[in-house]
Amino acid sequence: MSRIIYPGTFDPIHNGHIDIAARASKLFDELIFVVAVNNDKNPLLSTEERVELILDSTKHLDNVSAHKFTGLVVNYAVDCDAVAIIRGLRHVSDFEFEFQMAMMNYHLNSDIASLFMMPDEKYIHLNSTVVKDVVRLGGDIDEFVPKPVKDILLSKYSR
Ligand code: ADP
Repeated sequence: MSRIIYPGTFDPIHNGHIDIAARASKLFDELIFVVAVNNDKNPLLSTEERVELILDSTKHLDNVSAHKFTGLVVNYAVDCDAVAIIRGLRHVSDFEFEFQMAMMNYHLNSDIASLFMMPDEKYIHLNSTVVKDVVRLGGDIDEFVPKPVKDILLSKYSR
């Protein structure tokens, strides 16, 4: 049984994340989204809301699940018996940060591989911050996120 984890903030999940999960889930028996609880990004959505939206948005992928986690990603990978960490790469600008992170993770535990994948080009410019900004300013995000994600964002910003 080969298992991979997909760590991130996912505030909220969008179609770029789903594209990466769909691709990676074909290469492994199981893919687990791991949603960071204690990050300094001050998320709009609670950890539970982010996990729920991931589960709802990936229910068509039967080997994908989602959990929250605190602490070091490599330790979490060991705890759930994963062999690798998957991360998405959009631009060269992502590479520098991801390279540093991968090197630190190898330093912490060289048994856990770091893998990178590019999404379909239509998702290259997509990120969670842009999605939230567009909703907040009254724009349409139908092509960027599944409907439950749009609904929760609309309800947050209409308060
Ligand atoms: P972070 O982990 O930096 O808080 P996110 O939770 O938004 O960021 O992203 C989690 C992972 O998904 C990261 O590897 C990130 O590069 C990747 N990702 C984010 N947006 C996209 C996208 N549009 N296409 C592919 N991968 C993406």
